[in-house]
Amino acid sequence: MLKNYVGGVWTEMERSGLLPVENPSTGAILAQVPLSTTAAVDRAVDAAAAAFPAWSRTPVARRTEYLFGLLERLRAQEEALARLITEENGKSLPDARAELKRLIENCEVAFGMPVLQQGDKLIGASEGIDGEVLRLPIGVCAMAGPFNFPGMVPFWFLPYALAAGNTFVLKPSEQTPLTMQCIAGMIHDTGLPPGVFNLVHGDRTVVERLMDHPQVRGFSLVGSSRTCRIVAERCARAGKRYQAMGGAKNHLVVMPDARIDEAVRNMVSSCFGCAGQRCMAASAIVAVGDEVYRQVCDQLVAAARKVVIRDPLDPAVAAEPMVLGPVISAKAKQFILEMIETGVREGAELLVDGRQAALPARGHFIGPTIFGRVRPGMAIHRTEIFGPVVVVLQAASFDEAVRILNDHEYGNGASIYTQSGYWARRFKLEAECGMIGVNVGIPAPVAHLPFGGMKASLLSDIKAQGRAVIQFYTDSKIITERFWPEA
Ligand code: NAD
Repeated sequence: MLKNYVGGVWTEMERSGLLPVENPSTGAILAQVPLSTTAAVDRAVDAAAAAFPAWSRTPVARRTEYLFGLLERLRAQEEALARLITEENGKSLPDARAELKRLIENCEVAFGMPVLQQGDKLIGASEGIDGEVLRLPIGVCAMAGPFNFPGMVPFWFLPYALAAGNTFVLKPSEQTPLTMQCIAGMIHDTGLPPGVFNLVHGDRTVVERLMDHPQVRGFSLVGSSRTCRIVAERCARAGKRYQAMGGAKNHLVVMPDARIDEAVRNMVSSCFGCAGQRCMAASAIVAVGDEVYRQVCDQLVAAARKVVIRDPLDPAVAAEPMVLGPVISAKAKQFILEMIETGVREGAELLVDGRQAALPARGHFIGPTIFGRVRPGMAIHRTEIFGPVVVVLQAASFDEAVRILNDHEYGNGASIYTQSGYWARRFKLEAECGMIGVNVGIPAPVAHLPFGGMKASLLSDIKAQGRAVIQFYTDSKIITERFWPEA
């Protein structure tokens, strides 16, 4: 059974039950995760609140030293951690390694906190008066993560929060809690003072208590837009600052002048990598013109039929860059199968049927699935399916293609494939999405830049990672001061 990490010790706490953590490739039970009660959450928040005064006064360079210690441990254990991510999530080993690379990159960016947290000073704001802006830590911060990036997503927040002088309570996804459990052990080994970082396992009960708790000053959640709406309402009611990063339906627009062979190569990993369970996965292709539609469908169908579907830890395929693993659970698989049924009922053309693929006997596998002749507004276009299912639409022009994606509820990422600077420039300016790619399949920004969408994909204003998130983890205090001459 997994334990919570509170006040610097591993501890069994009040719980309402246990949930099995499953390897989605094999069905094997890897661990039991406790469903902590509100009393357990309160103890973690108390520990974080008690640690805050001393931690916030610790010099910033000393605070980042603990992150250097963590980085050494992460690097030493990188391969073991990648396997753990693959075991609990089902993504391929190369995808798990890429996740860890981005996790580490976020630590590296947070090392810059002595510069990033600097305030400002204005000499002569008025006659004999100076102005000053201080950036101060806010207090206890908390975060709840999704199942699809069990290591990387918490690191969009955690290293910045700590380096800026806040204390932290993390609730990993109850479906994939093992990666952060392991990393919490590494954090402990750095000698970080007790209570500065705390880990509480559980489900929505933990999230609800963290949002309601008066001592939690900032709360971040990455998950479905449905959960994000709850976060936005509940945190606003509690008078708390929050971040709520939600779901997606990412479109790839292919223009007539695109390098279609390269575009399709990108699409295969973008649509089917991580079994389509990336928030930046492409799940809708918009082909501009008849000829582009035909070529994209032909080439994508041929490529999808070659995708290897297997347990990603099978030694025969472990080194393959593109292995289609399972989706996270039987429930997720059931939903995806229902959406495939819906697409057929809606009259879309099922070009590749993932239900018919040769699938491993155990685990929650679905083969690559492609729908053609999809019209905007069909349920398979509106809905975030979060599986290896892609819909292909046709537009008559650039304007119509942009209208299709701008009319969509979500606005996380979108890419255009074109060799023309003119179309690329218009796309950058006109597409209502937070992260834009030009000839890039998954335009997930590096850790030095902000990460976050628009519309229903981001129900708050401050984005994750990079310089942007420091605004979230600090309060600016503005000083206006003068001194009269000595009498
Ligand atoms: P989820 O919303 O089910 O769960 C996310 C977290 O919220 C978990 O920790 C869970 O315990 C908690 N939670 C779930 N329901 C809750 C409720 N009713 N009240 C309070 N807390 C609740 O999401 P998931 O299935 O784990 O993750 C997949 C989703 O996350 C997809 O929609 C994906 O697009 C999204 N995602 C978005 C981004 C982004 O950057 N925008 C990144 C990764 C994943």
